Amino acid sequence: MNLEVILNKDQLTRDDLIYLMNLEDKEDLQKLYDKAYEVKAEYIGQKVYYRGLIEFSNVCVKNCNYCGIRKDNNKVDRFTMTEEEILDRAKWAYENNYGSIVLQSGERSDKEFVEFVDNIIKKIKELSNDELGITLSLGEQSKETYQRWYDLGAHRYLLRIESSNQELYNSLHPDDHDFKRRLECLAEMKEIGYQVGTGVMIGFPGQTIEDLVDDLIFFKENDIDMVGMGPYVLHEDTPTAKDVEDNGVLKTRNLNWGLKMVAILRLLMKDINIAATTALQALNPVGREMALKAGANILMPIITHRKYRTEYQLYENKPCIDEEASDCKNCLAARVGTVGDEIVYGEWGDSPHYFKRT
Ligand code: SAM
Ligand code: SF4
Repeated sequence: MNLEVILNKDQLTRDDLIYLMNLEDKEDLQKLYDKAYEVKAEYIGQKVYYRGLIEFSNVCVKNCNYCGIRKDNNKVDRFTMTEEEILDRAKWAYENNYGSIVLQSGERSDKEFVEFVDNIIKKIKELSNDELGITLSLGEQSKETYQRWYDLGAHRYLLRIESSNQELYNSLHPDDHDFKRRLECLAEMKEIGYQVGTGVMIGFPGQTIEDLVDDLIFFKENDIDMVGMGPYVLHEDTPTAKDVEDNGVLKTRNLNWGLKMVAILRLLMKDINIAATTALQALNPVGREMALKAGANILMPIITHRKYRTEYQLYENKPCIDEEASDCKNCLAARVGTVGDEIVYGEWGDSPHYFKRT
């Protein structure tokens, strides 16, 4: 196989994707990243869009085997921000000209929670004169709930498939999960009209390069609008941690795999939104900038108040937990500057792909 030929192909085959995922030579990798950046520049522009991330509650009814805030981790102090605190953060995002926000939390689907979110969406729309875009990342909900949140003004939803391989999915999740329901949720969001985002964890124990390539093909076959995928990072108080043989080796490999996945996905789906996720930064201080250079175009700066950040630790070494949103803003702007991208303020930064498919 010839790298130059593959990088210039219109249609990549599964074998091409496997070949690219197996690249290790530094010069070859640079060629891959450069090509992905070129594609991003052509289809999206040398631009980065912000989504201010509000991690408003770590209360979760689920027990995902890898996640630090899983229900059974009793070392976590549980919190839910008040409505006022959440609105204060949304107002901060609006006043600082972030085009949109993401509301994220542990999973709950009880009536009280659904109504709490109803109110927040409504009030954020009011305080921003309908200008702030709202993405939700609140796990699996009923179709009715997805519909009411959409009707109230949320327009993007992120729900990772975590792994498109059903067996691996089952190994990551106890009986409180059902792969089929996960797929249905993504289909329901699309039917309702959301811009649909999904993603996977990259490099958890037992996952192979072929599995990851099949994840990329899954995004393409499901015509996904936006992808937020990031390296699996160990959290020691979780069942998955016990399957990690050497955390040092895992970290190096997962950063490497994470960047390759971003670049290859950009070649495969040229006009979608791809996030440079925080987990990359947990593995390397400039991990997110490396992802922007490899084709990502979305950053999700955490804008949750400092006092809550330590209790929303999905994995070890989560960055920025000692900072306030204003610190992150300045630090990020300087970082994006080093990449050569322009930060686009005040716009939703929707996925061009969404408008083509609808
Ligand atoms: N509860 C919602 C859900 O699961 O969709 C939203 C919040 S959840 C914390 C967001 C994402 O965090 C998950 O989709 C998962 O991929 C990621 N995550 C959790 N634990 C992780 C870990 N140890 N390493 C990397 N990512 C992790
Ligand atoms: Fe809960 Fe989401 Fe963590 Fe799973 S990944 S335990 S649903 S917060």
